[in-house]
Amino acid sequence: MTLAIRRLKACVAVIGGGPAGLAAAVAARNAGCGDVLLIERDRILGGILNQCIHDGFGLHTFGEALSGPEYAGRYISMFRERNIRSLEDTIVLSLAPASEGGLEILASSRAGLVAIDANAVILAMGCRERPRGAISIPGDRPSGVYTAGAAQNLVNLENIQIGKRVCILGSGDIGLIMARRMTLEGASVESVFEILPYSSGLPRNIQQCLNDYNIPLFLSTTVTKIHGRGRLEGVSVAQVGADRSPVPETERYVPCDTLLLSVGLIPENELSRMCGVEIDPVTSGAVVDDTFMTSVPGVFACGNVLHVHDLVDWVSVEAAQAGAFAAAYAAGSAPEAGIPVKPGDGVRYTLPQRVSGARDCTISLRVGAPWRDRSIVVRTPGSASEERRIIKRTKMVRLHPAEMIRVDLKAADFAGASGLEVCVE
Ligand SMILES: Cc1cc2nc3c(=O)[nH]c(=O)nc-3n(C[C@H](O)[C@H](O)[C@H](O)COP(=O)(O)OP(=O)(O)OC[C@H]3O[C@@H](n4cnc5c(N)ncnc54)[C@H](O)[C@@H]3O)c2cc1C
Repeated sequence: MTLAIRRLKACVAVIGGGPAGLAAAVAARNAGCGDVLLIERDRILGGILNQCIHDGFGLHTFGEALSGPEYAGRYISMFRERNIRSLEDTIVLSLAPASEGGLEILASSRAGLVAIDANAVILAMGCRERPRGAISIPGDRPSGVYTAGAAQNLVNLENIQIGKRVCILGSGDIGLIMARRMTLEGASVESVFEILPYSSGLPRNIQQCLNDYNIPLFLSTTVTKIHGRGRLEGVSVAQVGADRSPVPETERYVPCDTLLLSVGLIPENELSRMCGVEIDPVTSGAVVDDTFMTSVPGVFACGNVLHVHDLVDWVSVEAAQAGAFAAAYAAGSAPEAGIPVKPGDGVRYTLPQRVSGARDCTISLRVGAPWRDRSIVVRTPGSASEERRIIKRTKMVRLHPAEMIRVDLKAADFAGASGLEVCVE
């Protein structure tokens, strides 16, 4: 039996129909690309926003506090108004440079396999949550232990009450939002435990999701054991020392029937790796230049698959740029040489990792620890042949690792630099 494969062509193919993929596809079309194709594994477009029924999305983009589905709905309307082609319920299985040039995508749909030849591809596959196995909590394996996003899906989309007495490990934004959600669903949220000495969620979520509901947050504290046969019965928790190891004398037992894990997100980069895209060890996303092109010519990346964002508004802004640059590449523009951008003291990562110097650009970054009254400084690294030069200094009242910082640079200010370094001073 021969396997029938449907063959399609696209100038720009977008993998993933969340806010990043939608904004990229709309921008590629706006930039003049008449042949954009978006592929989404889910039955509907919108990505993770479909399960985020709380508000707070779109304050920068639309000047309104929208719910996740409302925000996604605005982009889905823009997408539909432009008659952009989409394949829903279709998962991309592989991506590779084609021998005759361009890129080759293989996807699987209910109707069978689809092969797509594209001039440019935009990676917009989002990210997934770190599960229990990734943090190796000892103890039993009862039911009642969920990642916060899986719990959000069950509660918000399936209308399932997952538990009555809840503990949360990790103070990332999804965990904080679920603390409030579970409370509103009638559960008692006992505590949120965070191994770091500071919360890894946005300050506004600490206030609105924990403080407003009197839910205690224990910093420098972790879950050391899970107890329960069949259903979860409780967790042991302990404070941690400076090396993040539990301090045995501080261990205590907290009864609960549900444990939510909000312990980090991992960009979905299997396809990127398969295609040979260079991955940044800190962001776990692609290394890109200021056109959002990866190390593989014609492959662009945006959204949470590139780096985990705090606000969806910045996902849309970056994705729109990626879409416009991908359309230009598909129409024949050549890749550009780049000036390396590196994180310096106090900065965890910077993105893009290369800038061309041919245009103004924005550097996104996250700091490594909370600080007050410091500056973000962009400078040339300095060497025997090049004097160190300050390109930009931005005073900040408060710096927090949970918040993504964006610094706009004028091309004229760093023209001729051999490199750029971004640090906290
Ligand atoms: C629980 C939660 C709460 C949040 N709260 C807020 C908030 O209050 N305010 C805010 O601004 N932001 C919030 N965010 C962040 C915001 O939702 C994300 O920044 C945004 O959704 C990222 O968009 P994305 O398109 O990169 O990824 P996603 O929305 O995850 O979309 C990725 C899409 O790619 C598809 N895909 C993946 N692999 C494949 C494949 N191989 N083939 C085909 N399709 C594929 C997926 O099915 C998915 O639809 C929250 C996020 C979460 C998870």
